[in-house]
Amino acid sequence: MSSQSFLSVLTGSFSTPSADNPTVAMMEAAYRHAGLDVRYINCDVKPHNLEDAVHGARAMEWAGFNCSMPHKAAVIDFLDDIEKSAKIIGAVNCVAIRKGKLTGYNTDGKGFLASLKEVAEPEGKKILLLGAGGAARAIAVELALAGAKHIRIINRDKAKAEKIADLIEDKTHTKASAHVWKGNASVPDDVDIIINATSIGLGNAEAIPPVDLETLKKGQIVADVIPNPPVTRFLQEAKKRECITLTGLGMLVHQGIIGAEFWLGKTLDATAMKNALEDIFGVKK
Ligand code: NDP
Repeated sequence: MSSQSFLSVLTGSFSTPSADNPTVAMMEAAYRHAGLDVRYINCDVKPHNLEDAVHGARAMEWAGFNCSMPHKAAVIDFLDDIEKSAKIIGAVNCVAIRKGKLTGYNTDGKGFLASLKEVAEPEGKKILLLGAGGAARAIAVELALAGAKHIRIINRDKAKAEKIADLIEDKTHTKASAHVWKGNASVPDDVDIIINATSIGLGNAEAIPPVDLETLKKGQIVADVIPNPPVTRFLQEAKKRECITLTGLGMLVHQGIIGAEFWLGKTLDATAMKNALEDIFGVKK
């Protein structure tokens, strides 16, 4: 008998629409780089099929899967367990299947945190968070659990910012405040880290969040969640003012690394993942 195995380990993503999600290319590049017989399958799953898809992944003994829009909250109903920060955020985008048991995680904020930790520790820091959508909520919760001192959230729709600020104050030891975003926002003097967690700049190299750029200061950390283009106009302007900048590509790569650690117990190569994304996004090297 041959000792060769023709059975790959399966991972993937459930979302709809799903054709424009580049995570599959990033993950498969990293699996190939590590010489692993693991596949990542991008699946278009409509909301009414989510339960069947989850049961299917368990039945086929997948190692785990990502959940993207619109399944991040709905998938919780089909899980056995949810990790602490995902429970606070109220959304799961990564599920690990171990011995038939499904555990949900949220890697949006964890990916951001891992990227941030390459340049600074969040503990004791004052944060200005632009936006109050799903990404902002996940980032705020992880920063708070990591010991950030204060998170100032600004959003056009103030009620959404208030919801996140209330959640942070209820569930963590971090202070938070919510403010309406009108006109060009000023960056307060004592802020250490500024994060664009809006969708402004996605696929648009000219778009920039309305911020008074002259209130940015040398040495402040300016991060963007936008992965494409990786160096947004906001980051270019911050760099001109000698800020330390972090791209959304780092957040995406770290999400992949964290997901694979949950699924396979292995740490994948960040450079292989970043190269795959940069090729797709047409970044000149
Ligand atoms: P949501 O739709 O939940 O939130 C969008 C946010 O952007 C809201 O706060 C919205 O404000 C704000 N916004 C949009 N347009 C404007 C504008 N013109 N002026 C001011 N505010 C604006 O999206 P998500 O939070 O899920 O995603 C946000 C971005 O994060 C996306 O571009 C996504 O690609 C990126 N992302 C990146 C990840 C990565 O790994 N790099 C991971 C996850 C997301 P309002 O509430 O007032 O409408």
